[in-house]
Amino acid sequence: MIYELTLDLLPGQERDDKLIQELILRNLAGGGTHVASSKITAVICKKKSVDARHGQVKLHLRYAVYIDELPPVEGDFSPKWKQAKNNKTVIIIGAGPAGLFAALQLLEDGIKPVIIERGPETAERKIDIAESSRTGSVGLDSNYCFGEGGAGTFSDGKLYTRSHKRGNIGRILSIFNYHGANPNILTDAHPHIGTDKLPAIINNIKKTILSFGGEIHFNTRCTELIIEKGAIKGVITVSSLQEKVSETFLGKAVVLATGHSAIDIYHMVADACSKNGIPVSRALVAKPFAMGLRVEHPRVLIDDIQYHGSERDKIFPAAEYRLTTQVDNRGVYSFCMCPGGLVVPSATAPTQIVVNGMSPS
Ligand SMILES: Cc1cc2nc3c(=O)[nH]c(=O)nc-3n(C[C@H](O)[C@H](O)[C@H](O)COP(=O)(O)OP(=O)(O)OC[C@H]3O[C@@H](n4cnc5c(N)ncnc54)[C@H](O)[C@@H]3O)c2cc1C
Repeated sequence: MIYELTLDLLPGQERDDKLIQELILRNLAGGGTHVASSKITAVICKKKSVDARHGQVKLHLRYAVYIDELPPVEGDFSPKWKQAKNNKTVIIIGAGPAGLFAALQLLEDGIKPVIIERGPETAERKIDIAESSRTGSVGLDSNYCFGEGGAGTFSDGKLYTRSHKRGNIGRILSIFNYHGANPNILTDAHPHIGTDKLPAIINNIKKTILSFGGEIHFNTRCTELIIEKGAIKGVITVSSLQEKVSETFLGKAVVLATGHSAIDIYHMVADACSKNGIPVSRALVAKPFAMGLRVEHPRVLIDDIQYHGSERDKIFPAAEYRLTTQVDNRGVYSFCMCPGGLVVPSATAPTQIVVNGMSPS
């Protein structure tokens, strides 16, 4: 039998197994379930959150308590990827999170993903980004948004959302964990991988895709769609390093996973529509968007406010906050807070000023 219950603990108490067992037995007894401690076969923490809203900072911990039965093996995740067959190929433009996860999804059906990525691999990207930070220049195909892992590689890695549009989040978290993310992300209320961990995890995902027969072409920019009789048959690319080197890739389908920063891709799609007599409105649909700005605070200030002046305990993360309000019938809200992090330039063209935030785990 499995019981789920929540305990409110003071910092440090979550490490006291004896106390936790006592509290669990008391909690179960309070609900009319009397069990001997010897019957408890396992106690697994399912969710952890910090409540710093009132004077004393508390931890809310949700536990699954196993009575007379064994829990599943920790990190129990069975990959379903199959060796890809060469006769079924799908082209994916972009090696960001969407492109990489599309590739993993195709491999579950043994379909070969061929990823076309305009930017370089991470090691080279780091050199280009360091150069940009020194000189203020922007690499057109290699920057904080373009290259292996897309904008995800140097992102904050916060894996939670206010959106109610949800898929199988547990599976996505398990895939990240399988590729090296801390198992805490499986239980934390606000799972956060951290900028320091992401490049290695993205690299491991790349290795999985390649090991199951996928292909990834770096420094290769998609410039044209091949359309025949109203259907997309493939793409034409140029090398990001040598403009004159062009290639053609054909596939059963083309997935555009180019993110929001690649403005040229919208022109490419519009041109392809015009050339092929397809109404542009069938291919491109404007979506509403929110506009924002980034505010930088000293971390100690936010920690001091959120933890009520008490020094941050080692087990607590850098404090975060969320604000929402209505102004003239419009929602105004804080978004993408990077606790203890920093602001980074994430433009993809010299004429832009774009910033984002990152923070270590
Ligand atoms: C610093 C920073 C911090 C962030 N923090 C978070 C966070 O904590 N949590 C969160 O949820 N989101 C965060 N984001 C946003 C998140 O990274 C993006 O929403 C996410 O990466 C989008 O994934 P994507 O695959 O759709 O697109 P992208 O990551 O933008 O990837 C698109 C890829 O397509 C490639 N591409 C584009 N055009 C072409 C072309 N013509 N030919 C070939 N390749 C092409 C690009 O080079 C890029 O690699 C952050 C972003 C940044 C920059």
